[in-house]
Amino acid sequence: MYGLKTESSFDSAHFLADYHGKCENLHGHRWRVVAYIEQDSLGESGTERDMVLDFGEFKAALRGLTARLDHTFLVEEGTLRPETVTCLEGEGFTLTMLPFRTTAENLARWFFDRMSEQGLPVSQVDVYETPLNCATYRR
Ligand SMILES: [Zn+2]
Repeated sequence: MYGLKTESSFDSAHFLADYHGKCENLHGHRWRVVAYIEQDSLGESGTERDMVLDFGEFKAALRGLTARLDHTFLVEEGTLRPETVTCLEGEGFTLTMLPFRTTAENLARWFFDRMSEQGLPVSQVDVYETPLNCATYRR
């Protein structure tokens, strides 16, 4: 099995609804995302001969996704009142509404699924919400 690994990061705010502790309050992280792809064989011809994939394509895919979330407020749908969302957007803040609780585990799955949809042979995604705490999603 051959593999590649790349990483990117983004800064964003979030809070965890229904959580009893510090994370229920609005706070931010520098989220570090590490993605892995795996493949049984290497490319046979062209620019990807003897490669799993062109590294540039892999890096660009991950960076495109982290750029979508960077410097936005990650909000689980339904956890803020509609008038709160309207007010925040009226102030010019950029919200990213997500259909799941904004845990590192769910964000790892979000990255995994988006990269899979792009046809990448993703095998694992790690999301660090602090330098020492990491959640992993793999299929
Ligand atoms: Zn947090």
